[in-house]
Amino acid sequence: MSVQQIDLRSDTFTKPTPAMRQAMCEAEVGDDTVSEDPTVNRLEELCCDLLGKPAAMFSCTGTQSNQTAIWAHCRAGEELLIEQQGHIASYEVGAPAALSGVTVRTVAGNQGMLDLDDLVDSLRPDRQFFPPTRLLCLENTTNIGGGKAYPLDQIERVTNWARENGLKNHLDGARLFNACIAKGYLAKDVARYFDTVSICFSKGLGCPMGSILVGDEQTISRARRARRMFGGGLRQAGIVAAAALYALENHRERLAEDHANAKRLAAIISDAPGLEVNREDVETNILFFQIESDAITASELELRLRKRGVKLYAIGGNRLRAVTHLDVDRSMIETAGRIIVEEMNSAVS
Ligand SMILES: *Cc1c(COP(=O)(O)O)cnc(C)c1O
Repeated sequence: MSVQQIDLRSDTFTKPTPAMRQAMCEAEVGDDTVSEDPTVNRLEELCCDLLGKPAAMFSCTGTQSNQTAIWAHCRAGEELLIEQQGHIASYEVGAPAALSGVTVRTVAGNQGMLDLDDLVDSLRPDRQFFPPTRLLCLENTTNIGGGKAYPLDQIERVTNWARENGLKNHLDGARLFNACIAKGYLAKDVARYFDTVSICFSKGLGCPMGSILVGDEQTISRARRARRMFGGGLRQAGIVAAAALYALENHRERLAEDHANAKRLAAIISDAPGLEVNREDVETNILFFQIESDAITASELELRLRKRGVKLYAIGGNRLRAVTHLDVDRSMIETAGRIIVEEMNSAVS
Protein backbone atom coordinates (compact mmCIF):
# COMPACT_ATOMS: atom_id res chain seq x y z
CA MET A 1 0.00 0.00 0.00
CA SER A 2 1.34 3.43 -0.85
CA VAL A 3 1.72 6.03 1.88
CA GLN A 4 -0.75 8.92 1.88
CA GLN A 5 1.05 12.06 0.70
CA ILE A 6 0.44 15.22 2.71
CA ASP A 7 2.19 18.13 1.07
CA LEU A 8 2.79 21.03 3.43
CA ARG A 9 5.82 22.42 1.57
CA SER A 10 3.95 25.40 0.17
CA ASP A 11 0.55 26.57 -1.01
CA THR A 12 2.15 26.75 -4.48
CA PHE A 13 1.76 22.95 -4.69
CA THR A 14 -2.03 23.19 -5.05
CA LYS A 15 -3.47 21.71 -8.22
CA PRO A 16 -6.42 23.15 -10.12
CA THR A 17 -9.73 21.53 -9.10
CA PRO A 18 -11.98 19.91 -11.72
CA ALA A 19 -14.32 22.94 -11.58
CA MET A 20 -11.39 25.30 -12.11
CA ARG A 21 -10.17 23.22 -15.05
CA GLN A 22 -13.67 23.37 -16.50
CA ALA A 23 -13.66 27.18 -16.24
CA MET A 24 -10.26 27.25 -17.97
CA CYS A 25 -11.52 24.95 -20.67
CA GLU A 26 -14.46 27.20 -21.47
CA ALA A 27 -12.55 30.51 -21.39
CA GLU A 28 -13.06 32.94 -24.22
CA VAL A 29 -9.64 34.07 -25.45
CA GLY A 30 -7.90 36.59 -27.71
CA ASP A 31 -4.47 38.20 -28.06
CA ASP A 32 -3.75 39.94 -24.76
CA THR A 33 -0.81 41.89 -26.23
CA VAL A 34 -3.40 44.09 -27.96
CA SER A 35 -5.83 43.82 -25.00
CA GLU A 36 -8.17 41.55 -26.96
CA ASP A 37 -8.42 38.70 -24.51
CA PRO A 38 -11.90 39.14 -22.99
CA THR A 39 -11.18 36.87 -20.02
CA VAL A 40 -7.97 38.71 -19.09
CA ASN A 41 -9.86 42.00 -19.50
CA ARG A 42 -12.60 40.76 -17.17
CA LEU A 43 -10.06 39.63 -14.60
CA GLU A 44 -8.23 42.96 -14.72
CA GLU A 45 -11.52 44.87 -14.31
CA LEU A 46 -12.56 42.71 -11.36
CA CYS A 47 -9.18 43.29 -9.69
CA CYS A 48 -9.52 47.06 -10.23
CA ASP A 49 -12.88 46.85 -8.40
CA LEU A 50 -11.61 44.63 -5.60
CA LEU A 51 -8.58 46.82 -5.00
CA GLY A 52 -10.05 50.22 -5.76
CA LYS A 53 -7.47 51.08 -8.42
CA PRO A 54 -7.94 52.38 -11.98
CA ALA A 55 -5.60 49.92 -13.75
CA ALA A 56 -4.46 46.30 -13.53
CA MET A 57 -2.07 43.98 -15.37
CA PHE A 58 -2.15 40.18 -15.36
CA SER A 59 1.27 38.54 -15.32
CA CYS A 60 2.94 35.16 -15.17
CA THR A 61 4.27 35.11 -11.61
CA GLY A 62 4.49 37.10 -8.42
CA THR A 63 8.15 37.74 -9.13
CA GLN A 64 7.30 39.18 -12.54
CA SER A 65 4.57 41.31 -11.02
CA ASN A 66 6.88 42.69 -8.31
CA GLN A 67 9.71 43.29 -10.76
CA THR A 68 7.59 45.12 -13.32
CA ALA A 69 6.40 47.38 -10.47
CA ILE A 70 10.01 48.06 -9.44
CA TRP A 71 10.94 48.87 -13.05
CA ALA A 72 7.91 51.16 -13.32
CA HIS A 73 8.73 53.09 -10.12
CA CYS A 74 12.54 53.31 -10.20
CA ARG A 75 15.47 54.17 -12.42
CA ALA A 76 18.87 52.49 -12.51
CA GLY A 77 21.07 53.64 -9.63
CA GLU A 78 18.18 54.14 -7.24
CA GLU A 79 17.38 51.93 -4.27
CA LEU A 80 14.40 50.36 -2.59
CA LEU A 81 13.81 49.64 1.08
CA ILE A 82 12.46 46.31 2.29
CA GLU A 83 12.37 44.18 5.42
CA GLN A 84 15.39 41.86 5.49
CA GLN A 85 13.35 38.64 5.13
CA GLY A 86 11.34 40.02 2.22
CA HIS A 87 10.73 37.87 -0.86
CA ILE A 88 11.89 40.65 -3.20
CA ALA A 89 15.20 40.82 -1.30
CA SER A 90 15.87 37.10 -0.94
CA TYR A 91 13.86 34.95 -3.35
CA GLU A 92 13.86 36.85 -6.63
CA VAL A 93 17.41 36.08 -7.78
CA GLY A 94 18.66 39.65 -7.40
CA ALA A 95 16.18 40.79 -10.04
CA PRO A 96 15.94 44.44 -8.89
CA ALA A 97 19.68 44.77 -9.69
CA ALA A 98 19.64 42.53 -12.77
CA LEU A 99 16.52 43.91 -14.44
CA SER A 100 16.16 47.48 -13.20
CA GLY A 101 19.62 48.47 -11.90
CA VAL A 102 18.03 49.02 -8.50
CA THR A 103 19.85 48.21 -5.26
CA VAL A 104 18.01 46.65 -2.36
CA ARG A 105 18.56 48.04 1.14
CA THR A 106 17.22 45.71 3.80
CA VAL A 107 15.96 46.82 7.18
CA ALA A 108 15.41 44.53 10.18
CA GLY A 109 11.80 44.46 11.30
CA ASN A 110 9.62 42.13 13.33
CA GLN A 111 8.39 38.85 11.78
CA GLY A 112 8.90 40.31 8.33
CA MET A 113 6.95 43.48 9.09
CA LEU A 114 8.28 47.04 9.32
CA ASP A 115 7.19 49.81 11.64
CA LEU A 116 8.30 53.44 12.00
CA ASP A 117 10.97 52.65 14.59
CA ASP A 118 12.67 50.33 12.12
CA LEU A 119 12.64 52.89 9.35
CA VAL A 120 13.46 56.28 10.85
CA ASP A 121 17.22 55.83 10.53
CA SER A 122 17.03 54.58 6.96
CA LEU A 123 16.45 57.98 5.37
CA ARG A 124 19.42 59.25 3.46
CA PRO A 125 20.29 62.93 3.32
CA ASP A 126 20.14 64.42 -0.17
CA ARG A 127 23.83 64.19 -1.04
CA GLN A 128 25.60 63.54 -4.28
CA PHE A 129 27.07 60.18 -3.25
CA PHE A 130 23.94 58.42 -1.92
CA PRO A 131 21.70 56.27 -4.09
CA PRO A 132 18.33 58.03 -4.10
CA THR A 133 15.79 55.93 -2.15
CA ARG A 134 12.74 55.66 -4.37
CA LEU A 135 10.51 52.87 -3.14
CA LEU A 136 9.33 51.12 0.02
CA CYS A 137 8.20 47.50 -0.41
CA LEU A 138 6.05 45.83 2.25
CA GLU A 139 4.92 42.19 2.33
CA ASN A 140 1.44 41.16 3.54
CA THR A 141 1.21 38.44 4.66
CA THR A 142 4.88 37.91 5.40
CA ASN A 143 6.25 34.64 4.10
CA ILE A 144 9.53 33.91 5.87
CA GLY A 145 8.32 36.27 8.60
CA GLY A 146 5.78 33.58 9.50
CA GLY A 147 2.52 34.37 7.70
CA LYS A 148 1.90 37.53 9.72
CA ALA A 149 -0.73 40.01 8.59
CA TYR A 150 -0.13 43.74 9.05
CA PRO A 151 -2.58 45.67 11.23
CA LEU A 152 -4.14 48.43 9.13
CA ASP A 153 -2.91 51.25 11.38
CA GLN A 154 0.67 50.04 10.97
CA ILE A 155 0.31 50.07 7.18
CA GLU A 156 -1.08 53.59 7.38
CA ARG A 157 1.80 54.83 9.60
CA VAL A 158 4.53 53.28 7.54
CA THR A 159 3.22 54.19 4.09
CA ASN A 160 2.47 57.77 5.20
CA TRP A 161 6.04 58.06 6.45
CA ALA A 162 7.30 56.83 3.08
CA ARG A 163 5.08 59.18 1.11
CA GLU A 164 6.02 62.18 3.27
CA ASN A 165 9.63 61.38 2.50
CA GLY A 166 9.14 61.19 -1.23
CA LEU A 167 9.03 57.40 -1.61
CA LYS A 168 6.51 55.32 -3.52
CA ASN A 169 4.84 52.39 -1.77
CA HIS A 170 4.60 48.90 -3.27
CA LEU A 171 2.82 46.00 -1.59
CA ASP A 172 3.98 42.46 -2.28
CA GLY A 173 0.57 41.05 -1.43
CA ALA A 174 1.29 37.54 -2.71
CA ARG A 175 -1.09 36.39 0.07
CA LEU A 176 -3.09 39.58 0.57
CA PHE A 177 -6.40 37.70 0.70
CA ASN A 178 -5.06 35.58 3.57
CA ALA A 179 -4.33 38.82 5.40
CA CYS A 180 -7.84 40.10 4.64
CA ILE A 181 -9.44 36.96 6.07
CA ALA A 182 -7.22 37.02 9.17
CA LYS A 183 -7.65 40.72 9.91
CA GLY A 184 -11.18 41.27 8.64
CA TYR A 185 -10.25 44.15 6.35
CA LEU A 186 -11.03 44.50 2.64
CA ALA A 187 -8.32 44.35 -0.01
CA LYS A 188 -9.18 47.89 -1.07
CA ASP A 189 -8.81 49.15 2.55
CA VAL A 190 -5.19 48.01 2.29
CA ALA A 191 -4.56 48.94 -1.35
CA ARG A 192 -5.47 52.60 -0.84
CA TYR A 193 -2.19 53.13 1.02
CA PHE A 194 -0.08 51.80 -1.86
CA ASP A 195 0.86 53.01 -5.33
CA THR A 196 1.01 49.42 -6.57
CA VAL A 197 -0.16 46.08 -5.17
CA SER A 198 0.76 42.62 -6.46
CA ILE A 199 -1.30 39.52 -5.62
CA CYS A 200 -0.57 35.86 -6.50
CA PHE A 201 -3.26 33.51 -7.79
CA SER A 202 -0.88 30.56 -7.64
CA LYS A 203 -0.68 30.35 -3.83
CA GLY A 204 -3.64 29.63 -1.56
CA LEU A 205 -6.10 30.63 -4.25
CA GLY A 206 -5.13 27.42 -6.01
CA CYS A 207 -4.44 28.52 -9.61
CA PRO A 208 -1.77 26.90 -11.76
CA MET A 209 -0.15 30.30 -12.41
CA GLY A 210 -0.69 34.04 -12.56
CA SER A 211 -0.50 37.27 -10.60
CA ILE A 212 -2.08 40.70 -10.83
CA LEU A 213 -0.50 44.13 -10.43
CA VAL A 214 -2.78 47.12 -9.76
CA GLY A 215 -2.04 50.84 -9.67
CA ASP A 216 -2.72 54.06 -11.55
CA GLU A 217 -2.95 54.15 -15.37
CA GLN A 218 0.50 55.62 -15.91
CA THR A 219 2.33 53.19 -13.63
CA ILE A 220 0.54 50.14 -15.02
CA SER A 221 1.27 51.27 -18.56
CA ARG A 222 4.99 51.42 -17.67
CA ALA A 223 4.65 48.01 -16.02
CA ARG A 224 3.22 46.64 -19.29
CA ARG A 225 6.37 47.75 -21.11
CA ALA A 226 8.48 46.05 -18.43
CA ARG A 227 6.43 42.85 -18.65
CA ARG A 228 7.04 42.75 -22.39
CA MET A 229 10.75 43.46 -21.88
CA PHE A 230 11.03 40.69 -19.26
CA GLY A 231 9.50 38.21 -21.69
CA GLY A 232 6.07 38.07 -20.09
CA GLY A 233 3.95 39.59 -22.86
CA LEU A 234 1.04 37.19 -23.08
CA ARG A 235 -1.17 36.04 -25.93
CA GLN A 236 -4.25 33.82 -25.24
CA ALA A 237 -3.81 34.17 -21.49
CA GLY A 238 -7.54 33.91 -20.89
CA ILE A 239 -7.02 30.19 -20.32
CA VAL A 240 -5.18 30.98 -17.10
CA ALA A 241 -7.02 34.21 -16.29
CA ALA A 242 -10.19 32.06 -16.17
CA ALA A 243 -8.66 30.10 -13.32
CA ALA A 244 -7.98 33.34 -11.45
CA LEU A 245 -11.56 34.54 -11.98
CA TYR A 246 -12.82 31.20 -10.72
CA ALA A 247 -10.54 31.39 -7.66
CA LEU A 248 -11.58 34.94 -6.76
CA GLU A 249 -15.21 33.78 -6.78
CA ASN A 250 -14.80 30.42 -5.10
CA HIS A 251 -11.55 30.13 -3.17
CA ARG A 252 -11.27 33.33 -1.17
CA GLU A 253 -13.60 32.67 1.75
CA ARG A 254 -12.28 29.16 2.23
CA LEU A 255 -8.81 30.52 3.11
CA ALA A 256 -10.25 30.66 6.66
CA GLU A 257 -10.15 26.82 6.67
CA ASP A 258 -6.43 26.89 5.89
CA HIS A 259 -5.86 29.27 8.79
CA ALA A 260 -7.85 27.04 11.16
CA ASN A 261 -5.86 24.03 9.93
CA ALA A 262 -2.53 25.79 10.55
CA LYS A 263 -3.66 26.60 14.10
CA ARG A 264 -4.80 23.01 14.63
CA LEU A 265 -1.46 21.66 13.40
CA ALA A 266 0.35 24.04 15.77
CA ALA A 267 -1.81 22.78 18.65
CA ILE A 268 -1.07 19.12 17.89
CA ILE A 269 2.67 19.45 17.50
CA SER A 270 3.08 21.77 20.48
CA ASP A 271 2.83 18.52 22.52
CA ALA A 272 5.83 16.98 20.76
CA PRO A 273 9.03 16.68 22.80
CA GLY A 274 11.90 18.81 21.48
CA LEU A 275 9.71 21.13 19.40
CA GLU A 276 9.08 24.78 20.10
CA VAL A 277 5.89 26.14 18.57
CA ASN A 278 4.57 29.57 19.36
CA ARG A 279 0.88 28.99 18.82
CA GLU A 280 0.02 32.68 19.17
CA ASP A 281 2.22 33.45 16.16
CA VAL A 282 0.08 31.38 13.81
CA GLU A 283 -2.21 33.89 12.16
CA THR A 284 -2.73 32.62 8.61
CA ASN A 285 -1.70 29.52 6.65
CA ILE A 286 2.03 29.53 7.42
CA LEU A 287 3.45 27.84 10.50
CA PHE A 288 7.08 27.90 11.58
CA PHE A 289 8.38 25.67 14.33
CA GLN A 290 11.75 25.13 15.86
CA ILE A 291 13.72 22.10 17.02
CA GLU A 292 14.96 22.61 20.60
CA SER A 293 16.93 19.37 20.89
CA ASP A 294 20.36 18.13 19.85
CA ALA A 295 18.90 14.72 19.00
CA ILE A 296 17.81 15.72 15.47
CA THR A 297 18.35 18.52 12.96
CA ALA A 298 15.66 20.21 10.91
CA SER A 299 16.81 18.56 7.68
CA GLU A 300 16.91 15.13 9.34
CA LEU A 301 13.34 15.63 10.53
CA GLU A 302 12.35 16.78 7.04
CA LEU A 303 13.77 13.54 5.63
CA ARG A 304 12.11 11.29 8.23
CA LEU A 305 8.75 12.94 7.67
CA ARG A 306 9.11 12.64 3.91
CA LYS A 307 9.53 8.87 4.27
CA ARG A 308 6.16 8.82 6.00
CA GLY A 309 4.45 10.95 3.35
CA VAL A 310 4.56 14.29 5.16
CA LYS A 311 6.39 16.89 3.12
CA LEU A 312 7.55 20.19 4.53
CA TYR A 313 10.67 22.33 4.29
CA ALA A 314 13.50 22.88 6.73
CA ILE A 315 14.13 26.61 6.38
CA GLY A 316 17.18 28.03 8.07
CA GLY A 317 19.09 26.28 10.88
CA ASN A 318 16.69 24.39 13.11
CA ARG A 319 13.43 25.88 11.76
CA LEU A 320 10.81 24.12 9.67
CA ARG A 321 7.87 25.58 7.78
CA ALA A 322 4.49 24.02 7.11
CA VAL A 323 1.96 25.70 4.85
CA THR A 324 -1.72 24.72 4.74
CA HIS A 325 -3.84 24.98 1.59
CA LEU A 326 -6.86 23.64 -0.26
CA ASP A 327 -5.32 20.25 -1.07
CA VAL A 328 -4.88 19.46 2.66
CA ASP A 329 -8.06 18.85 4.65
CA ARG A 330 -8.59 18.56 8.41
CA SER A 331 -8.10 14.80 8.57
CA MET A 332 -4.78 15.09 6.70
CA ILE A 333 -3.75 17.76 9.23
CA GLU A 334 -4.58 15.38 12.10
CA THR A 335 -2.51 12.65 10.43
CA ALA A 336 0.44 14.97 9.68
CA GLY A 337 0.40 16.28 13.26
CA ARG A 338 0.38 12.76 14.69
CA ILE A 339 3.30 11.71 12.47
CA ILE A 340 5.37 14.76 13.47
CA VAL A 341 4.75 13.99 17.17
CA GLU A 342 5.67 10.31 16.64
CA GLU A 343 8.89 11.14 14.81
CA MET A 344 9.95 13.62 17.50
CA ASN A 345 9.12 11.05 20.19
CA SER A 346 11.30 8.45 18.55
CA ALA A 347 14.09 10.96 17.85
CA VAL A 348 14.47 12.24 21.40
CA SER A 349 13.79 8.99 23.31
C1 LIG B 1 5.38 33.35 -3.71
C2 LIG B 1 5.70 34.75 -3.40
C3 LIG B 1 5.97 35.68 -4.42
C4 LIG B 1 5.98 35.34 -5.89
O1 LIG B 1 6.56 34.15 -6.20
P1 LIG B 1 6.45 33.47 -7.65
O2 LIG B 1 6.98 32.13 -7.39
O3 LIG B 1 7.26 34.29 -8.56
O4 LIG B 1 5.02 33.49 -8.04
C5 LIG B 1 6.22 36.97 -4.04
N1 LIG B 1 6.20 37.34 -2.76
C6 LIG B 1 5.93 36.49 -1.76
C7 LIG B 1 5.89 36.98 -0.35
C8 LIG B 1 5.68 35.16 -2.05
O5 LIG B 1 5.44 34.31 -1.04
